[in-house]
Amino acid sequence: MSKFIFITGGVVSGIGKGICGASLGRLLKDRGFSVFMQKFDPYINVDPGTMSPYQHGEVFVTKDGAETDLDLGHYERFIDEELTQRSNVTTGRIYSEVIQKERRGDYNGATVQVIPHITDRIKGYVYKAAEESKADIIITEIGGTVGDIESLPFIEAIRQIHAENKKEDVLFIHTTLVPTIPGSDELKTKPTQHSFKELMSQGIKTNIIVVRSPEKISDEIKNKISLFCDVPKSAIVQSENVDFIYEVPVRLHEQGLDDYVLHKLCLEGNPIIKNNWKEMIDSYKNVKTELEIGLVGKYVQLHDAYLSVSQALIDAGYKNAHKINIHWINSEEVTEENAKEVFKGLDGIIVPGGFGGRGIEGMIATSKYARENNIPYFGICLGMQIAIIDIARNVANLEGADSTEKDDTTKYPVIDLMENQFDVENIGGTLRLGNYDCKLLKNTKARELYNSEIIQERHRHRYEFNNKYREELEKAGVIFSGINPELDLVEIIEYTGSDYFVACQFHPEFKSRPNKVHPLFDGFIKASIKNKNE
Ligand code: GLN
Repeated sequence: MSKFIFITGGVVSGIGKGICGASLGRLLKDRGFSVFMQKFDPYINVDPGTMSPYQHGEVFVTKDGAETDLDLGHYERFIDEELTQRSNVTTGRIYSEVIQKERRGDYNGATVQVIPHITDRIKGYVYKAAEESKADIIITEIGGTVGDIESLPFIEAIRQIHAENKKEDVLFIHTTLVPTIPGSDELKTKPTQHSFKELMSQGIKTNIIVVRSPEKISDEIKNKISLFCDVPKSAIVQSENVDFIYEVPVRLHEQGLDDYVLHKLCLEGNPIIKNNWKEMIDSYKNVKTELEIGLVGKYVQLHDAYLSVSQALIDAGYKNAHKINIHWINSEEVTEENAKEVFKGLDGIIVPGGFGGRGIEGMIATSKYARENNIPYFGICLGMQIAIIDIARNVANLEGADSTEKDDTTKYPVIDLMENQFDVENIGGTLRLGNYDCKLLKNTKARELYNSEIIQERHRHRYEFNNKYREELEKAGVIFSGINPELDLVEIIEYTGSDYFVACQFHPEFKSRPNKVHPLFDGFIKASIKNKNE
C-alpha cells in the first residue's frame, strides 16, 4: 500500500513546487522509502510536446517516451528514479481519454460529467502510479495556482482521494509566498491566509505549509501563519533561496520537514544514512576554477528551454572541479565571418536539440569553427545532424548538403525522414520517442566513455542520418561509433580530425544526475578542461 502526498501552490505560479516536491522525494528516499513522483498540469494540451520552448521551456522525455513538463527533470535528478507515462498528466489528456470512452459507449448511456467521470480518471492516474510503481510514497504535484478555474477538477480529485483513504495515508502540502511590500521590509502573511482559505473552500485542509519568501521568516511570522492557517508551527518550513538548487533538501531537512511528514504518515524512517548529497554540495562550494562553455541554439532567450542540458553541464563541471559559465549564443547571430569573434575565449562548444529550419546555418558555422579550430564540440540531437551537414558540405564536398527538415529540395539529403515518418499527419506524440538500444563500436571515444557495449538512451526527434551517405562521410573522417542494432540507425558520431568532436542523436541530458554525471557530458567537460589548460 502506497501513501500519497499532494503538493499544491498558492499566491503565484513559479513558486518552486517542483523543487520542493523533488527535495522531499530525495529526503524520503534517503530515509529508506521508495518514491514515485508525478505532476498534474491543468492546461488543455494533451502533453507539452507541441508547445513552443519559448512558452514552456524544455520538454523532458521519460524512458517510455512520454513528453513531459520540465519539472519531471527535477524529479529524476533529485530522486534518481526513471519516471513513466504515469508521471505527467494534463487536463487535455484526461478529457481526450474520457471523450474517447464516451464515443465508444463505455459509459452505458450515462451523462458524462466532471464529477465523477473526469475526477475518476484523474484519481485513476494516482492509483495506477501506486499500483505500477509499488512505491512506498507517491508524491503528486498539482500544477498551477489554487483558485485557477482550470485546476478545480484536480483539487476535487485529490480531496476525494483523501476521503477514500485512511487519514494517515494522505498528506497535503501547500507552498505559498510571503512577500514584502516594495519600500518596506515587512513580510506579509495575508496572501498565504487567503490561499489557505481558498484551498479550504475546495475541501482541502493543508497539513504542511512551505513558504517562499525574499527573506528568512521569523518565529513571529510562523506564529501568525500557524494561527490563521491552523497548522502547527512545526509544520511550517521555509524553502530558502539557495545558491545551488540541490541545497534545498538539506535546508528542508534541517527544519524537520521529512520528520514531520513521516510522523503524519505514521511511518518510521531510518535516520538519513549514506547521504553523500550534503558532501556533494559542500564540494561544490569549494570549486573556484572556471570553465567557459558556449551553448549555441535558437531558444537561448529562455534558458529553461535547455534546462536539463545546462544542469548536466553544471553538474559535470562540479564533478571535475570546475564552475561552468554558460555563454548563451543565439545561433541566428552566428556566421562563418563572425565565428572567431563570437567564440573567443570559449573552452568548449555545445549545440543542443531544436526544431525547424531557422537558425540552422549559424549552427553549421559553429560546428565548422569548432572542428577547424580543434575546440571540443558536443552535439545533441539537432547538434549531431548539424555536425553531419557541416562535414558533408565542408569536408566531403557535398555542396548544399542539408537536412530535409530545412530544405526538402536539397541534392544531398544527409539528414532525412525515415519511411515510417512520411505519412505522419499529427505532430503531437509522433516523434521517435523514449529509449532505444545503441551498440558502441570498439576503440572509439563513445565506447571508452561509456565503458560498455550496449547502452540505452532517450530520443525525441523525427529526422535521422541518411545511411546512403555513410561511406562518403566515413571517407571524410566520420566514425559512426554508436548504431541502433534493430533499425541500423546512426546514434553517435565522432570526427577523427579533431581531438574531441562527439555528437549523438539521442538526449543524454535526460539521464544525467548530479551525483551520477552522464559519461558524454563528463567526457566533453574533461576535453574542454584539457583544451583550456593547453
Ligand atoms: N529537428 C530534429 C528532428 O526532428 C532534431 C530534434 C531535436 O533536436 N530534438 O529530427
